[in-house]
Amino acid sequence: MVFRVGNATITRIEETYGACYPLKKIFPDIAAAQFAEHSRWLAPHHYDPAQDLIKLSVHSWLLQVGGQKILIDNCCGNNKVKPGRPFWSHLTIDYLGRLAAAGARPEEIDIVMCTHLHHDHVGWNTMLKDGKWVPTFPNARYVFSKADVDYFSKVDASDEGPAELGTFRECVVPILEYGRADLVEGTHRLNDFIEIEPAPGHAPGHVFFKLESNGERGAFIGDVWHHLLQVYYPDWNFPKNSDAEQARVSRRKVLDYCAASGALVMPGHVGLPFAGRVEKTASGYRPDFPA
Ligand SMILES: [Zn+2]
Repeated sequence: MVFRVGNATITRIEETYGACYPLKKIFPDIAAAQFAEHSRWLAPHHYDPAQDLIKLSVHSWLLQVGGQKILIDNCCGNNKVKPGRPFWSHLTIDYLGRLAAAGARPEEIDIVMCTHLHHDHVGWNTMLKDGKWVPTFPNARYVFSKADVDYFSKVDASDEGPAELGTFRECVVPILEYGRADLVEGTHRLNDFIEIEPAPGHAPGHVFFKLESNGERGAFIGDVWHHLLQVYYPDWNFPKNSDAEQARVSRRKVLDYCAASGALVMPGHVGLPFAGRVEKTASGYRPDFPA
C-alpha cells in the first residue's frame, strides 16, 4: 500500500485492521436516519454489520522524502496487556518484517515521529533487550510533543499512574533517558518538507504533520479523527480526550486545512483505503476515500 505526495513515498505498515468497538458505544449520538444514510459506504471497510462493531486500522506510515526514512506513529507493539482491548492485546506480529519489506530496516530509520503519546502510537518505539527497554530504531531521533511528555510524566507520577497502560514507562521514558528525543512545541518546522502543528484535545500535546513535496501536500493527522463518520459529524468525539471541546476545535481546524490545501490525508486508524482527501460542502465536510 504505497502513496505518493510529490517526490515523497509513503507506505502504510499495518499492525492490525479489524472490528473492535460497538458503534453506539463510540458514537452514541448516531440516529437511525444517519446510520441509514451512511450504511452504503460503512460496510465492509469501516463497519462490521454482523457484529455491529466499527472497524479500525492500527498502522504506521513510513515516509521517504529528501533521502530520509521517517516512521510516523508506532502502533501497539507486541506482547502488551491492553485491558478492554482484546483486539490489541498480546499481539505477536512481525511488524519489523513488514517494515523491512517496505524498505526500512530498524537501523535505517532516521526519524520517528509520534502524533501523540497514547499507548497505540508508541508501541514499537522500544524493544525489550536483556531485560531493558531500548530504542528499536538505534540511529533515529524521536520527535515528541513536549506538551504530551509533560502531561504524561505528571500522570505517570500521580496516583493515576502508570500512564497509558504502562507504555509511557516502557516506550517513551527510555527514549528520553537514552537522549534520543527531540521535544517540540508550538508550530515547528522540522525540515524542508515537514511542518509540525498543534492539534490538541484528544491528547494535550497532539500534533499533526504537514508534508509538502514538489508542490503537493499531505497531512498525517493521527487521531484528530479516528473514523470517517467524524468527517461528516466533526462534533463527534472518539472517547478518551484530554479536552473534548478542544478536540472538536482542532478537528475543524485540520478539516479546514485538508480541504483548502487538497492534501492527501493519512489518519491513524481509518480503514481501507486508509488515505484520502477531504472536501468542503455547503453544510460541512465530506471524505473522499474511495475504496
Ligand atoms: Zn490512536
